[in-house]
Amino acid sequence: MRQRHPATAPSEHLVIVGNGMAGHRLVEALLARPERPARITVIGAETTPAYNRILLSPLLAGEMEREALTLRNAEWYAEQGIELVLGERVENIDRTARRLTTDAGRELDYDRLVLATGSNPARPPVPGLDLPGVHVFRDLGDADALARAAEQGGSAVVIGGGLLGLEAAEGLRKRGQGKRGMQVSLLQRDDRLMNRQLDLTAARLLENELRGRGLDIHTDAQLERLEAGADGQVCAAHLADGTRLAADCVVVAIGIVPNSALARSVGLDVNRGVVVDEWLTTSDPSIHALGECCEHHGNLYGLVEPIWRQVEVLADCLCGKPSTGYGEARYVDKPCATKLKVSGVSLYAFGPTDPEPGHEVLSYRDPQQGDYRRLLLRDGRLEGAVLYGDTASGPWYFEQALAGRDLAPCRPALLLGAADAQLLLDDALNESPQSPAKEAA
Ligand SMILES: Cc1cc2nc3c(=O)[nH]c(=O)nc-3n(C[C@H](O)[C@H](O)[C@H](O)COP(=O)(O)OP(=O)(O)OC[C@H]3O[C@@H](n4cnc5c(N)ncnc54)[C@H](O)[C@@H]3O)c2cc1C
Repeated sequence: MRQRHPATAPSEHLVIVGNGMAGHRLVEALLARPERPARITVIGAETTPAYNRILLSPLLAGEMEREALTLRNAEWYAEQGIELVLGERVENIDRTARRLTTDAGRELDYDRLVLATGSNPARPPVPGLDLPGVHVFRDLGDADALARAAEQGGSAVVIGGGLLGLEAAEGLRKRGQGKRGMQVSLLQRDDRLMNRQLDLTAARLLENELRGRGLDIHTDAQLERLEAGADGQVCAAHLADGTRLAADCVVVAIGIVPNSALARSVGLDVNRGVVVDEWLTTSDPSIHALGECCEHHGNLYGLVEPIWRQVEVLADCLCGKPSTGYGEARYVDKPCATKLKVSGVSLYAFGPTDPEPGHEVLSYRDPQQGDYRRLLLRDGRLEGAVLYGDTASGPWYFEQALAGRDLAPCRPALLLGAADAQLLLDDALNESPQSPAKEAA
């Protein structure tokens, strides 16, 4: 395949737009490579240096201090010889002159540019969404605003029963505890929570657990509009079935949309995200994109695991090392597993949520322990798993699925978990005529 990225010269100036999780991880990866471009500048629209966005959920819940989110401070960037510009948004890129402009009027020339602009929260087309008191949950400012709202008490409505909505709802509820208390309702359009990851049984277990903690959960809920009170603030959410839920605060958490407006405005190929090839190169060979703003083979990103692999490929590429050296030479999409960060709830899932034709279903449930496991196999190979309660074997199941391993030899022990199943697999391997143990003997 044609390689579209010319090798960099060490004297090149690399500019990274976005000091979020992807942009920062790229800086760390470049610093580990002696061949990195001599000059690196990072421009971030947020006013704080990159932080661990994943931990916004425990921060909101009051389980973690703000300092624990810090990845590196501004001094660290300076010590590494990296120019860090914060609180400025790149507004324009002159691709011919290779010069960008920020909203503060700063102009900067680049040889190579990386777009790591992340994504924006998706917003449903519902009247009232722009009312004061309606929030999203994306950055430190959002987490602060939600924490203040929770501490004032009253009622909140969270729109969206996926990972983010659940973490926001539990965060608000926990944060309000011990203060004035916040009554939190959660609206899920589908018939179950986390409908992209869980089967109905696991979703119901999760729902019961969260209801038991005091969350008011509405599935099959169709939000119709938000209502303003006499003070102009949001005061209620109306559902299509006529339900009215009081809301001093509303959180919109229905998903994310790649932040690709800048790329689109300067004529780069953009579909839903900024289109990149397997070297994270856009339609302009001097411009790359990675993280939640990019789109590769029609796929978009919302978890860090694939983004970390993109970082390794792009770092090699920016150091003129397209093949080997520090990791995979080309970026390839791989399946991801999901975990929920709500303390006291353990779940782990990957693959299809419901059985498809040809799937064999193995399941196990221990209502007393609150454990549930459901595996989907095709021709003895694992294609999907949902684990609720004891999730310790989740990574092992995922590893077997990724390896496409034939699990027929350990089928009787498969639901018992990794240790028992692996024993049977090892026995089968030792008994196989081609096994190394047999050959050595
Ligand atoms: C509350 C929460 C919990 C999460 N939990 C998990 C989890 O448990 N597991 C998991 O894998 N993932 C989780 N995620 C997702 C994970 O945080 C993202 O996948 C990751 O942050 C994406 O990195 P990114 O750099 O692409 O985007 P971001 O981290 O959003 O960074 C993009 C940065 O670019 C800046 N920017 C945008 N446009 C410009 C511009 N024009 N000029 C300059 N700067 C600009 C933005 O201000 C932002 O700082 C969670 C996300 C949230 C919000």
